[in-house]
Amino acid sequence: MTDTKKPAALQAVKGMNDLLPPDAARWEWLEERVRHLMRRWGYANIRTPIVEPTALFVRGLGEVTDIVEKEMYSFVDSMNGDALSLRPENTAGVVRAVVEHGLLHDGGKRLFYIGPMFRHERPQKGRYRQFHQVGAEALGFAGPDVDAELILLCRALWQDLGLVIGDDVRLELNSLGQPAERLAHRAALIQHFESHADLLDEDARRRLHSNPLRILDTKNPAMQPVVESAPKLMDFLGEASLVHFNAVRAVLDAAGLPYRINPRLVRGMDYYNLTVFEWVTDRLGAQGTVCGGGRYDTLIEQLGGKPAPAVGWGLGMERLLLLLQEVGSAPAPQAPDAYAVVPSHAELPRIMRALDALRAAGVAVVQHPAGAEGPSSMKSQFKRADASGARFALVFGDSELAQGQVAVKPLRGGEQVLRALDDVGTWAAELLAP
Ligand code: ATP
Ligand code: MG
Repeated sequence: MTDTKKPAALQAVKGMNDLLPPDAARWEWLEERVRHLMRRWGYANIRTPIVEPTALFVRGLGEVTDIVEKEMYSFVDSMNGDALSLRPENTAGVVRAVVEHGLLHDGGKRLFYIGPMFRHERPQKGRYRQFHQVGAEALGFAGPDVDAELILLCRALWQDLGLVIGDDVRLELNSLGQPAERLAHRAALIQHFESHADLLDEDARRRLHSNPLRILDTKNPAMQPVVESAPKLMDFLGEASLVHFNAVRAVLDAAGLPYRINPRLVRGMDYYNLTVFEWVTDRLGAQGTVCGGGRYDTLIEQLGGKPAPAVGWGLGMERLLLLLQEVGSAPAPQAPDAYAVVPSHAELPRIMRALDALRAAGVAVVQHPAGAEGPSSMKSQFKRADASGARFALVFGDSELAQGQVAVKPLRGGEQVLRALDDVGTWAAELLAP
């Protein structure tokens, strides 16, 4: 051994979490449920880069948004001077990819993604700097049917995961109308806030002329009265917007999905119009929004594509998993089918060939690993076998091996049996039977 100083241990970046076993199994479980669901609803997977040109988010999300103003991980690529950002969300990236590859040339597309997003926020429960989203986007479809479909897709996911609609998650709905309607509302808003300028906080005053709609989204309790009394966008909606909104509502009503119309629901990005919605929970404190989405009919054109409508949502996986934990909905713990107890390595190649064949037959087998000193005692190997949760121990003892056999020992009651070592295909299924 050298006597040099031990290197200092390194730590993960603040607000960015390692996902370790067994917890990571919950993530895999959730991702699997999502993939199955998306397949049933006809949504195809899309994977875009984690790093995009900063301009994509500035143009896509809007300059005066929380994300672009203060949450983006933006940096200059020192190799070539490019202005880049870690993606804070993935709708802009999906639209960029759809436009870049002309994906809408033969009609609309239903897409979904799963992956990490990055926002420089103050880390707390349900709020991290690297977090993960599942998102669904339907691009190229103008009708209210797709808005409703996306909302019902969320409900199907909640139900699939064992959440109770109404108790665990609730739907909030609003319509932001069309740009011209928003403009008229915006003028009325500015007038309202200007006549109450003394009641505005610094953030609101700064946004008064750049993005007054976002003032409605304030979390400052002192601002609530002035926000409550502000003109409602709903009163500025024209006929077509109301028809669209009512069509979405009619589908939700017929589907027996309760919702609350929340006129203050505006969402954090500039790109939304018509339908917007959030799924919220009371079980996670301040981080109560699990999923948010809406229609963004102008974004594709704004990012250089041929004008096409679109609608989508994104959900926070950390929050969803916290919520599932809160309500006690969890996947069954993952255990192997069998645990291989290997007291001697004299016949290791033959043993490992048999284990290989078992795995090829679909059996999950964990082999007890030897240390530097060789295989450990039977007793400690059996202890591990028990702790693994496996239903069977496969005991490769000397006497069994001498007869070309392995002992299959049920770990939770039942008779031990001997099975042929070189012919696992004839008995592998016994280890899988429930
Ligand atoms: P919030 O109001 O809580 O900041 P948001 O409006 O910024 O949420 P969206 O941009 O709509 O969130 O993202 C969709 C979902 O992603 C949120 O509903 C939430 O579940 C999740 N999410 C957003 N930011 C974070 C974060 N920093 N950490 C963990 N999850 C997040
Ligand atoms: Mg936010």
